[in-house]
Amino acid sequence: MATCDTCGNDYDKPLTVTQGGRTGTFDSFECAVHAMARSCDFCGCRILGHGVEARERMFCCAHCARAAGEVGIADRT
Ligand SMILES: [Zn+2]
Ligand SMILES: [Zn+2]
Repeated sequence: MATCDTCGNDYDKPLTVTQGGRTGTFDSFECAVHAMARSCDFCGCRILGHGVEARERMFCCAHCARAAGEVGIADRT
């Protein structure tokens, strides 16, 4: 049994997620995302894909990057 780091649920098939030097144990992807995923610096949604990296900031899409004042950002097609 392991306890989810986000909601405290005991679960017999936990997920372990490692990001950099940080490791978390979760009962679901939703809880893992809640704890580990970065938020878009413009709209605040969780970035589940690659996102758009602009200098020190991360955005969920090119639209948010442009809306936040970053220039020369385009979604990769
Ligand atoms: Zn949980
Ligand atoms: Zn966004």
